[in-house]
Amino acid sequence: MESIETRLFAGKFGNPGMILKRGGENFIFDCGDGLLSKSDFNKLKAVFISHHHYDHFSGFDPLIPLSLYHENPIKVIGPEGNIQRVIAKVMAYNWNLIKEDDIKLDVYEIIEDKLLFASLRFPFNLDQKYEIKKVDQKEVLNFGDYKIRFTSLDHSIPSIAYAFSEKDYVNIDKQKLLESGLNPGAWLEELKVKFNQPRSVIDYFGEYIETHKLIDMVVLNQGRKIVYATDFIYSVDNIGKLLNIAKGADEFYCEANFLSSEHINAKENYHLTAGQAGMLASELGVKKLVLFHHSRRYNDGSESVISKSFISEASRYFKGEIC
Ligand SMILES: [Zn+2]
Ligand SMILES: [Zn+2]
Repeated sequence: MESIETRLFAGKFGNPGMILKRGGENFIFDCGDGLLSKSDFNKLKAVFISHHHYDHFSGFDPLIPLSLYHENPIKVIGPEGNIQRVIAKVMAYNWNLIKEDDIKLDVYEIIEDKLLFASLRFPFNLDQKYEIKKVDQKEVLNFGDYKIRFTSLDHSIPSIAYAFSEKDYVNIDKQKLLESGLNPGAWLEELKVKFNQPRSVIDYFGEYIETHKLIDMVVLNQGRKIVYATDFIYSVDNIGKLLNIAKGADEFYCEANFLSSEHINAKENYHLTAGQAGMLASELGVKKLVLFHHSRRYNDGSESVISKSFISEASRYFKGEIC
C-alpha cells in the first residue's frame, strides 16, 4: 500500500494550500501562501483550485517558471473561468527568454458536472487560437488505483470541494494461506481478481479449485479518502453535496474561518464557524477533521493558542480526532 502524507503548506492562518503526497506523486489543493520545495514540486502532478478568490489563487505564480522543468504538462483544475484566469496569470509576465512551448499546462474548468479542457503551451501569441473541448471527467480524473471526485459548493460563487479516493484493494491473508497448505503462485493474482465471482474456478498449477473454497484467505481493504473543502456557507444544500463525496473520509480538511461568536459574520461571508465544521464532520462520519483557513483577525501572534479555541469549539460536535 502506498503511503499518503498530507500537509497544510500555508499553516492554519495563511492563505490556504494543502499538499497530498502519494507514491511519488504530489497534488496541491489551492495555491495560497508558502513555497514548495523543489523536490515536492518536481513530483507535482495536478493542482486543484477551489475558487479564484485572491487568497486561494495568488500563490499560483511561482508554479509557472517551475513548470519549465516538467517533462509532462501539469494539470490545473478549477471552477468556471479557470482557463482564462490561468492564461491571464501566465501572460502577466514576459517570457521572451524561454523556448516555445516550454510551459506546458493542461487546464480544466468545472461547470456544474461538466469538464472543459484546454491544452495550453506558452509562450504563445495572444492571437493564437487554442481549442476548448468538453472532456469526460471519468477519463481525466480516474488515475488507475485512485480517482478525484468533486462537488460545487455555494460560496456566493462556486467553490469546488475535492475528494481524493483510492480504489478498494484486495490482499491475501498470509496466515490463512499457510494454514491451507497451498503453495503461493500466479493463482493468487487470479484469486484477487475473481474473489467476488464465487462460482468461478482458479487455476492452481493445473488443478481447478472453486473460488468460494478459497475466499477465507481474501482480505478486502477499503481505499483511503482525503477530502478538501473550503469557503462555503453552512446550508442544507452544501451538506447534501458533501455527503455525496466526503462520507466516511479518513481525513477531512475543512475550513473554519470564524469562531461561533461570529456566526452572523460567517453566514454573511459564506464561510463556516469551527462549530459548524464540527457538526459537518459528524454528519459526514469522517475519521479525522483538519481545521484550517482561520481568519487572521484571530491571530494575535499566538497561533497555537488560538488554533486550540477552534479545535475545542469543533470538538463539542465532533468526537473523532481533530487537529
Ligand atoms: Zn473565498
Ligand atoms: Zn478563502
